[in-house]
Amino acid sequence: NKFKELGLNEQLLNAIKDMGFETPSEVQEEAIPVLLANDTDLVALAQTGTGKTAAFGFPLIQKIYPDSRTTQGLILSPTRELCLQIANELKNYAKYVKGLNIVAIYGGASITEQASQIKKGAQIVVATPGRMQDMINRKMVDISKIEYCILDEADEMLNMGFYEDINSILSHTPEEKFTWLFSATMPKEVARIAKQFMHTPMEITV
Ligand code: AMP
Repeated sequence: NKFKELGLNEQLLNAIKDMGFETPSEVQEEAIPVLLANDTDLVALAQTGTGKTAAFGFPLIQKIYPDSRTTQGLILSPTRELCLQIANELKNYAKYVKGLNIVAIYGGASITEQASQIKKGAQIVVATPGRMQDMINRKMVDISKIEYCILDEADEMLNMGFYEDINSILSHTPEEKFTWLFSATMPKEVARIAKQFMHTPMEITV
């Protein structure tokens, strides 16, 4: 099993089997062992459809401590639809991981409802930058213990004008964490945030 060779655990391998994934995609093959080894930030140039969600989702799920209720992983994504899609995919990947809660945070829905979901203990939060910033301002979410931060579709988030929100959100996370950035394109704005927020990231292009 090629997924096993990448270092994924039994819970993930069982979920992968259920989903019918047979072989890792290129970005998964390159990213998963590196991210599991926990020794670098990552910049990945990858389009939607390449399997990038699992490329960061599998290692993230394996790295999280489900016994702790602390929010350990934060994924920023440009739209409500993408947030929901990522959260649903991750829940599917994590179906055999007991106690792991994944919560989606996005605008246009009840903030108090989302806050109450966070309060129950969400180890992984998938958020749009605007709503995330709003919840930080209202002290509805604590991201001071984040260990993994994923910027998904970074080019889209910057196109949508989220630079200031991203900058401010990241300032509420610990300096010591791993940051994994995924983007379909690498305009200078994306290179700039990579330079600003990451430490000699490994680079993958698929
Ligand atoms: P993404 O690029 O993350 O949006 O993924 C595109 C689609 O491919 C999603 O529906 C995934 O469930 C699916 N997928 C991801 N990895 C694999 C894989 N290794 N084998 C088959 N399908 C996959």
